[in-house]
Amino acid sequence: MIIELVNTGTELLLGQIVNTNAPFLAARLNELGFSVLYQTTVGDNRDRMKNVLQTALERANIVITSGGLGPTQGDITKEVTASLLNKPMYLHEDSATQIQRFFDERRLCMTNNNLRQAMMPEGAQIIKNTCGTAPGVIVEEENSGKIIINLPGPPHELAEMFEKSIVPYLAERFGLQGAIVSRVLRTYGLGESALEERIKQYISNQSNPTLALLARSGEIHVRITARAASKAESMQLINELEGKIHPLLDEYVFGIDEETMEKSVGNLLLSRKLTIALAESCTGGLVTSRITDVPGSSQYLVGSIVCYSNAVKTLQVGVPAEIIAAKGAVSQETAECMAQGIKEKFQTGIGVGITGIAGPDGATADKPVGLVYIAIDGLAGKVCYEHYFNGTRADIKHRTALAALNHVRHYLLTI
Ligand code: ATP
Ligand code: MG
Repeated sequence: MIIELVNTGTELLLGQIVNTNAPFLAARLNELGFSVLYQTTVGDNRDRMKNVLQTALERANIVITSGGLGPTQGDITKEVTASLLNKPMYLHEDSATQIQRFFDERRLCMTNNNLRQAMMPEGAQIIKNTCGTAPGVIVEEENSGKIIINLPGPPHELAEMFEKSIVPYLAERFGLQGAIVSRVLRTYGLGESALEERIKQYISNQSNPTLALLARSGEIHVRITARAASKAESMQLINELEGKIHPLLDEYVFGIDEETMEKSVGNLLLSRKLTIALAESCTGGLVTSRITDVPGSSQYLVGSIVCYSNAVKTLQVGVPAEIIAAKGAVSQETAECMAQGIKEKFQTGIGVGITGIAGPDGATADKPVGLVYIAIDGLAGKVCYEHYFNGTRADIKHRTALAALNHVRHYLLTI
C-alpha cells in the first residue's frame, strides 16, 4: 500500500516553520507496514495544491495531507480535496455544534468563519478533533478506491487524531493483521548516538517488534512497536524486547509511555513520602511550573521562591551575603545554600537550589553563558552538579529544568 504525504502551508516553503508532521507520520506509517514513497510540500495555493494532490493520487493509494483545515481563507485543503474528487461541500451539523461548544466552553465568541471548519466534502468520513476545532476527513474516490485523508496542521492535533482515529481506520480498512501495540521508553542523559550504540543489535534486523528512536526536546524516546494476532501476544513481544533493552539503558529510562520526567519525580516523592521546595534563580520558576503540571502535585510540592536578585537570595532564602560576595551568585556554594535555605524555610524533605547564567549577557572570564549549578539537600545529604549548557536563553532554561528534575529523580532513587 503506497502512501504519499502532502504537507500544506506556505510557511513551510518559506522556511518559517520546520516540518515535523512528515517525519512523525512517515515513522508511524512505516511501523504499520505502509510504504511512504513520496513526500510533497505545497503552499496554500488552490491550483498548485490541486496539481500536487492529483499527482499524488496517481502514484499512491493513500494520500495524507497535513494542514489547512482551519477557519481562515488560507485554509483550503478540504475544499481542494473536494474539488479534485468532484464532491460538493456541505455544512456538517454535528461538527458545527461541536465547534460552537468548543467556544462556549471557553466563554469565547465564535466568529462565523469558524463554521468553514464544519464544511465537509460530500460522502466524507468526519474525524473528531479532540484537542482543537478543525475536524479531519477521510474521502474516497469511488472508482479507484483511492483515499485522501486530511489532517490538521498543529502537530499535537495531528498526532492525536492519527493515533486515535487514523491508525484504527487503516487497520480495519486494510486489514492490518492482528493488534499493533507500542510502548515508549523515555530516556534522558544519553545522546542519540550513544543510546543507539547501546541497543544497536536490536535496532538492525528487528522487524517485529520494530524499534524507533525519537528525539523530543532533550529527551530521547525509544518506541517499541509489535504486531501479533492479539493484543496479549503483541504485549508479550514488547515485554520480551523491553526486557533486553531496558537493562542496557538502565538509569537513563525515566518513564514509560505517558510518564513525563515531572510525573516520575512526583511518583518518587509520593512513594518516599517526601515533600519538596525549590529556590530557582536562572530558571525563573520553570522547574516548579513543570512539577505543577502533574495533577496532585500539591501532595508533595510545598512552595518555591524565585530568588533572582542577590537580595532575595539572602533575605528570603538565607544565602549568606558573604558567600555570594566571595564565590559569586552563580557558584556551587550559592546553589548549595539555596537548596539548604529553602528546605529549612519550608520545612521540606528535599530542597533544590538552581543558579546559572542563561545569557546572552552575564558571562565572565571564568563563568560562561550556560554555566548552571543545581544543588539538592535532603536525607541523603547535599549534592551539587555543574553543567555547561549551550543554546539560546530559552534552551538553557529548558535544559536546566530537565536536568534539575532528573537530578532530583536520581537523588530520590538513592533514598
Ligand atoms: P489551524 O486551525 O491552527 O489554522 P490548520 O489545520 O489550518 O490549523 P495550518 O494553518 O496549516 O493548519 O497550520 C497551523 C499551524 O500548525 C502552523 O502555523 C504551524 O505552527 C503548525 N504546522 C502546520 N503544518 C506543520 C508541519 N508540517 N510541521 C510542523 N508544524 C506544522
Ligand atoms: Mg490554518
